[in-house]
Amino acid sequence: MSSEKHSARSEPPEHRDGIIGDLLAEKDKLEDRLMELDDVPLLLVYTHLSGDEALMQRYAPHVKGAWAFEVDDVPELKRELCQALIATLADYTESGRPLPPAPPVDKLQRMCNASVGTQVPEEYMAMVLEELNFDRTDAKTVKWRKQPSPAFLDDFKVVVIGAGYSGLAMATKLKQAGIPFVMIEKNEDVGGTWFENTYPGIAVDTPNHFYSYSFRVKPDWDHFFSTGPEIIDYIRTCYAEMDIGEETRFNEEVVSAIWDKQGHRWDVTVRRKDGSEYAIRANAVITGVGLLNNPAVPDFPGRDRFKGPMFHSARWDHSVDLEGKRVVQVGTGASGMQLGPMIAPEVEHLTIFQRSPHWARHNPLLYAKVSDAMKWGLANIPYYNKWYRYQLLWATSDLVLPNLHKDPDWPEPERSLNAANDEVRQQLIAHISEQVNHDPELLAKLIPDFPPYGKRMLRDSNWYSALTRENVELVTGAVKEITETGVIDKDGIEHPADVIVLATGFKAQTPIYPMNVVGTKGSIRDAWGEDDPRAYLGITVPDFPNMFILYGPGTNGGHGGSAVYNSECQVRYTMLALREMIEREADRVEVRPEPFEEYINTVDAEHAKLVWTHPGVKNWYRNKAGRVVTNSPWPLSKYRNLTANFDPDDYIIEPA
Ligand code: NAP
Repeated sequence: MSSEKHSARSEPPEHRDGIIGDLLAEKDKLEDRLMELDDVPLLLVYTHLSGDEALMQRYAPHVKGAWAFEVDDVPELKRELCQALIATLADYTESGRPLPPAPPVDKLQRMCNASVGTQVPEEYMAMVLEELNFDRTDAKTVKWRKQPSPAFLDDFKVVVIGAGYSGLAMATKLKQAGIPFVMIEKNEDVGGTWFENTYPGIAVDTPNHFYSYSFRVKPDWDHFFSTGPEIIDYIRTCYAEMDIGEETRFNEEVVSAIWDKQGHRWDVTVRRKDGSEYAIRANAVITGVGLLNNPAVPDFPGRDRFKGPMFHSARWDHSVDLEGKRVVQVGTGASGMQLGPMIAPEVEHLTIFQRSPHWARHNPLLYAKVSDAMKWGLANIPYYNKWYRYQLLWATSDLVLPNLHKDPDWPEPERSLNAANDEVRQQLIAHISEQVNHDPELLAKLIPDFPPYGKRMLRDSNWYSALTRENVELVTGAVKEITETGVIDKDGIEHPADVIVLATGFKAQTPIYPMNVVGTKGSIRDAWGEDDPRAYLGITVPDFPNMFILYGPGTNGGHGGSAVYNSECQVRYTMLALREMIEREADRVEVRPEPFEEYINTVDAEHAKLVWTHPGVKNWYRNKAGRVVTNSPWPLSKYRNLTANFDPDDYIIEPA
């Protein structure tokens, strides 16, 4: 289902012919350059290329964790490594040998363990092999098992809704497979949430060398954690390379999708910017609208009385100049924590309303720039970018999950979940304390009374230090009322404001809203009620045939990982389902109620063991009844395994 044209474009640089020879042409400079690179990916490259594990074993005691800053400074060992790597590269050049395939699983596991300072489970290996794609088999791309009939395929039509990260990944795979589709995007450009969120300080908090498509690796990110504009640039570049311009329709919004029970097609209504509408008849509908696209604007008493500008963080009004203004910011989640410190230096006064505190971790790479040496290494050293991606994959995801499990024997269940979680708590408190100069009043406001990870773990984007500024005040508790000139707190004190910024999050429990999606028995709103979305693997829903959801209910990676990774899993699964449909020339593919119910029960049971259902925790992951509706409870490796195959027995599949 893939074409040469596309796979060639996304070819990683290490596969270019002669690259090793080019490197060695600058042999005198090579050692100095290698010395500037991160130790662990270099070590893994050397181990992989040379087959020698002895150096790796000597390095292992110096590797304390998966981040570069968790590796001891060992210059002599590193020089030895660099020299050994140069000799290995020279050997490849002289012998003309091709680069080796992926290491065998037992060796891979030893490499994974030694390079992140911990035991990586065996279940993780399939995922690593696939993600790093050493063998260039691109296992995530679904291939036809038998050539579909041209007549059936030509007549087949898919509607993809949304041109964000997920929609674009879907579209490129459909294009590669030759499945006809249109992609409808309500905005004037690609990017989805990254297009819409332009507040000051916007940046990703998952490292970009992992938070990016596996099929479009970018070696020259300027930052480890890129800003919004850098990410939009990347998405635009990917879009341009995907060659899907003809299939994309901007400034158009899907308002409804109604299943035709007789004809087994979706009747999709699309509204243009001028208000006119048109219809598309489609075999399948794939929504890539995301969970975080409907801003939650609280209905504060007096909200309409305020005389100045008031806007949501996801709808930032760039026409409003904040310089010298008194600003009230409501909300201290991921968005609020990034934007507050950015606007604090320019405003006259910033009052921040914090309903409840979040936990935030320090990461020294958060604002660091990627060095030129590192960019060069990622682009030129064979397999360096792959092993670096592996390191980040582990650092940001499944390493963390055991921390989130409730230990039934843990003696302090109010403050933490288990010994490791308690240790994280102590580290976080020490960091906050240091950042606020041990100010007891601020500390009392800032230390959450729930275990770490109960809400999304944030990164300290200079948040705590910003709160020590003279022009910043942190007000705790709810907003009581908004007046013409300010915001009244829970104690009845009015805080004057020229501008109010609402960093109050999103309506994540009502995905696919406000589209009117009607399946065989009624609308998706009826099926899910007010706030109880459910989907098999987060992707398919009984009574909604031929509909697939990307980044749907129960798929948000609450413990970490990259939303792009999860999306790619969902895209593959959707492609497998479409393949089944097209090869069988089927009309209808609909998940059966039994596997769906069983899956939801398993998910709920797993959530009961995790921090998000801790009694002291309130977060946007749970609905009013307390059910976790947005998050996946699974390690990435498990979610990958669940979605890597399509079991036709889970579905009603009807021939055309
Ligand atoms: P959020 O995490 O839901 O935070 C919303 C904030 O507004 C919370 O502090 C919340 O208080 C407060 N709030 C909500 N309603 C309120 C009310 N009626 N009165 C007073 N305060 C109220 O939203 P977000 O910060 O936009 O982030 C949402 C998600 O988007 C994140 O979890 C993340 O997944 C994603 N995101 C990621 C990044 C990144 O990668 N760096 C950046 C931004 C967003 P409570 O905590 O008490 O509910």
